[in-house]
Amino acid sequence: MNEFSLINTYFKKGSLARDDVTYGIGDDAACVKLPPGMELLISTDTLVAGVHFLSDWDAFDIAYKAVMVNVSDMAAMAATPCWATLALTLPSNDAAWLRRFSQGLHKALALYGISLIGGDTTCGPLTITITMHGTAPIDHAIRRSGAGISDIIWLSGEIGAAALAVSFLNRSDINVTPKDQRILMKKLLKPKPRLDLANILQRFATSAIDISDGLSADLHHITKASGISARLSLDAIPIHSLAIQYLGDKALDFSLQGGDDYELCFTTKAETLDEMRAALKTEGLACFPIGMMVEGRGLCAVDNTGAKKILEPKGYSHF
Ligand code: ADP
Ligand code: MG
Repeated sequence: MNEFSLINTYFKKGSLARDDVTYGIGDDAACVKLPPGMELLISTDTLVAGVHFLSDWDAFDIAYKAVMVNVSDMAAMAATPCWATLALTLPSNDAAWLRRFSQGLHKALALYGISLIGGDTTCGPLTITITMHGTAPIDHAIRRSGAGISDIIWLSGEIGAAALAVSFLNRSDINVTPKDQRILMKKLLKPKPRLDLANILQRFATSAIDISDGLSADLHHITKASGISARLSLDAIPIHSLAIQYLGDKALDFSLQGGDDYELCFTTKAETLDEMRAALKTEGLACFPIGMMVEGRGLCAVDNTGAKKILEPKGYSHF
């Protein structure tokens, strides 16, 4: 199968049709229509074999995750993902692998009504780059830079489970039961981007980020972009029960530094707290207030004794 029949078989076939796609795969560029009053948001994430996933993983899971991490970036902006392109570098033309990969890809894209509108296919070390295109009402995307002093810091869900999965994949000294391994691997392989928070974010958030590199590193980005500091209440941070079970005292530090959870961290004005809680209740969502934005630089944390410490923004960095 040559490059063009490969693209046709695995990617053009199975791509979701959307009314706003004038033309997708098959031309030198794709063309889409942006609804009036909306802005285009664009984000790219690459997954590299041996860095973000292991080559022996089911190709379905690799594709599925590649989509979800990109959808998560849209969720963090309170944007709606619409169109995706895929740059795929493959070591070989392996039909069984490509079939699984395209199944995972189309399944994940269909979950959010996203159309695959183009890409590039090359031969080389296994690498998957997806560019996601989404929309948000003009001036309503949420950025990292809008947090103000006294804003409340929220986390959309528990952290620590995906990082625990990574560490038991890498180390043999954590003895995780097969049942718990399955739960943790699901957290790592099947993250659920928090698009369900889009309304809440658009109504209340002053800044937002997704937790891909770890809470301390990602919240640090908000402090830097907003030019102020964050004070975390360590006891308020929701840690996944398996991280506590397997890591004990180390669970908190581990979860602050562990990435891959794809929950959202965001800030809201203190005066909208009651309204925000009511809106969360109406939407059937739970978020956790974990601290406050304060004057200064960097990140600090207080525990239940009131003791304060500086948190270094430790998280994953490729270089
Ligand atoms: P070009 O010659 O312009 O580089 P290609 O031959 O690479 O175009 O691709 C042909 C068409 O197939 C283009 O529309 C491109 O967007 C699309 N395409 C290529 N690879 C992929 C892929 N992995 N997934 C989706 N679309 C793809
Ligand atoms: Mg090309």
